[in-house]
Amino acid sequence: MSGFGADWLIVAPKERASVHKSANGREITMTNGLIRRVWRLDPDAATVAFDNLMTGASLIRGVKPEAELEVDGRSYEIGGLAGQEEWAYLRTEWLDRMKPIPSAFHYTRMESGATEQRFPWKRATYSGRQPWPPPGVSMTLHFEQDKLPGVGVAVHYEMYDGLPVISKWLTISNQSGQPIRLTRFVSEILAVVESESLVDNTAHWRKGPLQVDSDYSFLATRTGPEQNEIAHWEPDPNYTTQVNYTLQTPALLRCYPPLGPDAIIAPGTTFETFRIFELVHDSTDRERRGLAQRRMYRTLAPWSQENPILMHVRRAEPAAVKLAIDQCADVGFEMVIMTFGSGFDIEKEDPAYLAEIKALVDYGRSKGVALGGYSLLASRQISTEDDVVNPKPIFEHSPCLGSRWGTEYFRKLRKFIEATGLGVLEHDGSYPGDTCASTVHPGHHGLEDSQWTQWKTISDFYAWCRSRAVYLNVPDWYFLEGANKSGMGYRETNWSLPRERQIILARQNIYDGTWDKTPSMGWMFVPLVQYQGGGAAATLEPLREHLDYYERHLILNLTAGVQACYRGPRLYDSDETRAVVKRWVQFYKLHRAILESDIIHIRRPDGRDYDAILHVNPTLRERGLAVVHNPLDTAITRTIRLPLYYAGLTTTASIRINGGPARKVPISRDYGAELNVAIPAAGVTWLTIE
Ligand SMILES: [Zn+2]
Repeated sequence: MSGFGADWLIVAPKERASVHKSANGREITMTNGLIRRVWRLDPDAATVAFDNLMTGASLIRGVKPEAELEVDGRSYEIGGLAGQEEWAYLRTEWLDRMKPIPSAFHYTRMESGATEQRFPWKRATYSGRQPWPPPGVSMTLHFEQDKLPGVGVAVHYEMYDGLPVISKWLTISNQSGQPIRLTRFVSEILAVVESESLVDNTAHWRKGPLQVDSDYSFLATRTGPEQNEIAHWEPDPNYTTQVNYTLQTPALLRCYPPLGPDAIIAPGTTFETFRIFELVHDSTDRERRGLAQRRMYRTLAPWSQENPILMHVRRAEPAAVKLAIDQCADVGFEMVIMTFGSGFDIEKEDPAYLAEIKALVDYGRSKGVALGGYSLLASRQISTEDDVVNPKPIFEHSPCLGSRWGTEYFRKLRKFIEATGLGVLEHDGSYPGDTCASTVHPGHHGLEDSQWTQWKTISDFYAWCRSRAVYLNVPDWYFLEGANKSGMGYRETNWSLPRERQIILARQNIYDGTWDKTPSMGWMFVPLVQYQGGGAAATLEPLREHLDYYERHLILNLTAGVQACYRGPRLYDSDETRAVVKRWVQFYKLHRAILESDIIHIRRPDGRDYDAILHVNPTLRERGLAVVHNPLDTAITRTIRLPLYYAGLTTTASIRINGGPARKVPISRDYGAELNVAIPAAGVTWLTIE
């Protein structure tokens, strides 16, 4: 599989990330056994190799500058070497003949060390023990330019142990004694090897092994490289020997913000760009690529693995919240969120209200239940003065985060969280990426810096929340900025459908949402009371009368390792209901480690036959936990084939059905284990694998 002779997704590589200089001092290499990047330092600094050690393939076919800047109206390359003639491949002996780019910032010095945290992560009772910052090495290349004395550019890299990811960002420091204007930056330029050679053009070029993620991301749906805000796959005008007739193969990766930043860097200050994270894949298989992405998020955003069992309480009056906390503590739930429409108001500054919420937060904490609430940001209409000046905002209206209202909003949120000790913020409609052409908003000077400054406001706020252990439910892809959980990917109005239809739709949502996300990264929904419509046919209250459907929701979510927003006034209304909730919470907690591990997709729910998922984790005693659902009205028996490769088992598996006696099952050459499984009508059968 990989350079160290094992599969990195199953066995942790022994080799740690390292940085070392060549004996002659002309080259520096950063590697972790899975990937390797090499820079020449003389006659200037440039990336001259980027290798996928898992497949042995080179990722690049040429030498480009390390970055580009536009400062005070003039463009500069950062490092780089000129003189390459053939751009389809790069021969090592050509490097000695290459020359510095005269107009570029030139390399002066480098330093290396350990990785550093992007921001502090304060752990809560429900946090895991993942290391932070992710262990690995860092390396910084420094550059200067005679025409801009006092302006220093640093190109930063980090590489992590056991993960085929390299991170990159720039800092631009201004010691020139006067302000400089950074209108544009390109923080990564790679002449990547094309993923396919086509004579004609296509809108759907095949994806290559390089996936670029970034903390500069907005909106809900981005779960892969294709909707990235900053990774631009462009034609390379140098590459004239490519097969594509019009030279349009997207074989040049350039990373830059879609607009701006147009930042004024004051004397004595430093500007920092967003970070990119380059994940190198070793396969085109969807599950394997998904597992690699999930491992990246487990490592680089470990708070995304925090997975408290949560309830959405419908009313924010103290008595209603206390009842919810009491019931949660009783059955083992770990978090209560005062939901949309509950009356909770995080923008209130009335000391009596702050004291009331603080008392509730303290009450919850005394019972092991974190308490917090909902706030809407995007899609609100505030006023002509404060809304984004934008003919086509993402939603119909949105406030500008840099308006006077926006500045006040974040001040109030920080004050509220500090005063009450709030444990969770559900931030609905986070900053969606809207630009704003206002020239009078205090937070930005015009259109060109409006997206950058708003992103900075939201990401600084999320990082601040992370450093205070405020759990962040955000329905947008803000994990790398500090958010904990996003939507699994569901359609809200589906929770107004008749009860029976919700069940298979929910299982489909989880099945589809866990290719790119771990179970903890996506929330689901359970409408205990009417949510948006559908009346009595759609809801579970009175709970004791619809206990069968309530139990099906509990089972489908908890056995998938997924938390849902159980939205209503209470979790149980009778001893019988309480017993059902308690039973499945206990099941979840007993198997929590394996349930929160990655999902292997076996058969998608279609309402026509069984559907199944398999949780795997080769580092646990319980290597796997399979969940097999039967959507039919009659009991069935099926031969289920469990794909146990990622469970790390090779010859035999010891399998228990519904916690019964262990059976030895042989594992075939393709890591499958087959056995007959009986599944009750509209029911579930679970199997643990050791
Ligand atoms: Zn604005």
